[in-house]
Amino acid sequence: MAELHLKNLVKIYDGGVTAVHDFNMDIKDGEFIVLVGPSGCGKSTTLRMIAGLEDISSGTLLIDDKDCTSLPAKDRDIAMVFQNYALYGNMTIYENMAFSLALRKVSPEEIHKKVMYAADVLGLVDQLNKKPKELSGGQRQRVAMGRAIVRDPKVFLFDEPLSNLDAKLRNSMRREIKLLHHRLKTTMIYVTHDQTEALTLADRIVVMSMGRVQQIGTPYEVYNKPRNAFVGYFIGNPSMNFFEARVIGDVLVGKNDFIYKLNEDEKRRLSKYDNVPVLFAIRPENITLGGDYKLKVDLIEHLGQYSLIHGVINEYQVIVKAAGWVNYNQGDIIDVDFKKDKICFFDLDDGHII
Ligand code: ADP
Repeated sequence: MAELHLKNLVKIYDGGVTAVHDFNMDIKDGEFIVLVGPSGCGKSTTLRMIAGLEDISSGTLLIDDKDCTSLPAKDRDIAMVFQNYALYGNMTIYENMAFSLALRKVSPEEIHKKVMYAADVLGLVDQLNKKPKELSGGQRQRVAMGRAIVRDPKVFLFDEPLSNLDAKLRNSMRREIKLLHHRLKTTMIYVTHDQTEALTLADRIVVMSMGRVQQIGTPYEVYNKPRNAFVGYFIGNPSMNFFEARVIGDVLVGKNDFIYKLNEDEKRRLSKYDNVPVLFAIRPENITLGGDYKLKVDLIEHLGQYSLIHGVINEYQVIVKAAGWVNYNQGDIIDVDFKKDKICFFDLDDGHII
């Protein structure tokens, strides 16, 4: 069990690339933190600095109030699970899990206790005498987690552990990792580019872009109260719809005579933006069928429980998420509206929420 304090962490690689700028966060004991963002945004670098696999260029890392900034990886009491879980093919599952403890000269009785505990938690008790090649991908990933669990670390780090698995297996492993966290109650920090994993696993999400933290918040907060347009765009699938439009008095005026009437609250929020273009943004599920706006249908994707209607409102490309199985044809014009309390406005210059 551990709490972590990351203070002004910076990583500058040889050659001058600043991969992480001024990362600040306090992580509570037992929290499940997910770092999410597009490829190259600095999430693995941040994780590797916590693990001690990358030097910290500047800033401080405290684990349980102990300064670990320059501590070697082996002394940090952290276990890491990677995407590429490389098990030893010639060893049994039991031996794979026992290996790191044997290296540390832990007694055979203690090793047995720890391996059996991990195998029990992970549902691997019947697999212990098998070799890795006899196991499915999901079981092998569980063994990789088992190798981390036996070490009884203060913190678990996961670097994209599910990205090599197929979609169905990813979903079931996601649930297993969440249940594992419920059982172990250990602090976990998990890196992924997949916003669904972030929303479903995290107690708190850290959204990153270009080496900078964009927002830290609960899944509810980052989804419903994005701090800037990047978070609004990145979290949620399909993404938010964005319309660039100009505030003119009581209305927003956009492409092809798009007009949106502002209510009192919106007018107040946008009072400094008169005659200035802003981003009007709304999630696909918050465009409703029926209303004063016309949407021209391009195509429909049926996903069973819901349908995605791709189309155009006044030259703005949009996606609408409608419940159930809707039937429209390409070229149909349908009436739609925007859920008032779900509209976000973003500053066009720096992207911050207005
Ligand atoms: P992510 O995990 O979000 O995909 P990374 O942390 O791996 O991103 O990388 C962040 C940035 O640092 C990228 O621009 C990447 O090219 C750069 N980078 C990563 N590792 C190294 C390295 N060993 N040397 C130099 N640059 C690196």
